[in-house]
Amino acid sequence: MTLSDLNTPDIDVDLLIIGGGLVGSVLAVALENTPIKTCIIDKGEDIDLSDADFDGRAFAISASNKNLLAAIGLWPVLEKDASPILEIRVSDGPSLLALHFDHKDVGDQPMGIMLENRHLRCALRDRLSSSQRARVLAPASVEALVNAPGGVQISLVDGRVVRAQLVVGADGRGSQTRAQAGIKLTRWPYPQTGIVCTVRHQRMHMNIAHERFLPSGPFAILPLTGDALGVQNRSSIVWTERADLAHVILDLDEDAFRSELMRRFGDFLGNIEIIGSRYAYPLSLQFAERFVDNRLALVGDAAHGMHPIAGQGLNMGLKDVATLAQVLAETYRLGLDIGGSQALSQYAKWRRFDHAAMLLATDMLNRLFSNDIAPVRIARDVGLAAVNAFPPIKNLFMRHAMGVSGDVPKLLRGQPL
Ligand SMILES: Cc1cc2nc3c(=O)[nH]c(=O)nc-3n(C[C@H](O)[C@H](O)[C@H](O)COP(=O)(O)OP(=O)(O)OC[C@H]3O[C@@H](n4cnc5c(N)ncnc54)[C@H](O)[C@@H]3O)c2cc1C
Repeated sequence: MTLSDLNTPDIDVDLLIIGGGLVGSVLAVALENTPIKTCIIDKGEDIDLSDADFDGRAFAISASNKNLLAAIGLWPVLEKDASPILEIRVSDGPSLLALHFDHKDVGDQPMGIMLENRHLRCALRDRLSSSQRARVLAPASVEALVNAPGGVQISLVDGRVVRAQLVVGADGRGSQTRAQAGIKLTRWPYPQTGIVCTVRHQRMHMNIAHERFLPSGPFAILPLTGDALGVQNRSSIVWTERADLAHVILDLDEDAFRSELMRRFGDFLGNIEIIGSRYAYPLSLQFAERFVDNRLALVGDAAHGMHPIAGQGLNMGLKDVATLAQVLAETYRLGLDIGGSQALSQYAKWRRFDHAAMLLATDMLNRLFSNDIAPVRIARDVGLAAVNAFPPIKNLFMRHAMGVSGDVPKLLRGQPL
């Protein structure tokens, strides 16, 4: 069967992206300056971004992914809402042995930025709604997908037919695209829940991020900018708690919740006040057996989901985007098939090591630090102090977290495709 034997498509594009979350949307924007025509479909209704709370999440975005946002033209819109991360202080419970990263040790650029989910989503939505090259269909979902030589024909539930050379699955952790392709998933849940909220504090955060390892999991205090209502001195909290205890904590009244938070936060920023709602995210680690299939590539959480201990889930997804966009743009330029096996295996090979290393690192860190076993605690504290006292190792960690080490795709260096 060839594509011409199938129904005449209503929409004929080079690339169909299933899932218009952050990762899928950034991919469409990244390809805007290439001749590659894209279409995104998302099952979601249009979310009301005027709600200041949205889902409470704010992301630590690495320096290299900030370069990506700049290279695709989103930075001028986002800059005012982005809070630079100048230092990171890591401590193990009450131990005095700690690890301190300062951006000045590796250059003059911040190590990363903090950006609220709602700001990034708004910027992407505005950009895509005026795009000449990327089309967005939402709400929409796939009913059937037929592979044929030279492309894929996709029937949508609403009866429309899309034809593309390549399908990208960017439909998140529960990816149906991955399941329909028969790609196996390895998954184990952590007995932990991520509690997320935003606080306002008396003193300035000085753009310092704090990560405290507590027996039930990491507790992160992440610096935000002031908000549109003029509320200054804000930080985002990602508080990992035992899953059974998290429910009890989330149900506490405001005063009791605040005092539990204060016990972990401390008083170094003065008095704190919780702004807005509390959110809960069940945590798990999962990875797809492979990231490509016949005319299919997986990106973002559809390919890999990890513990937020190092704030790397979205960062990894954006690195997938930078890599795939470069491979596709170069393949197209050479007049080759963007859905062909050569392009897909180049993408999979380029990302393989980084994925495996990051999944392993986040899982090991969580296992090592989320307990209060005395010998383990002593060993890890000595480890933290040793890394802190040895600048070459410390700088290596910093460069890796900033995403500027290894074979870095063009967009992550801030260069156009
Ligand atoms: C508490 C917490 C804190 C975090 N902090 C950080 C951080 O600081 N830094 C960081 O890098 N990462 C962080 N992460 C991870 C980050 O949130 C995710 O990695 C990222 O949001 C994944 O984006 P995505 O676009 O791949 O998937 P999603 O955001 O899940 O988007 C998937 C999209 O696909 C659509 N969809 C789903 N199924 C279908 C279908 N069948 N058809 C059509 N559309 C479909 C959905 O509607 C959605 O829009 C954190 C995660 C948590 C839980």
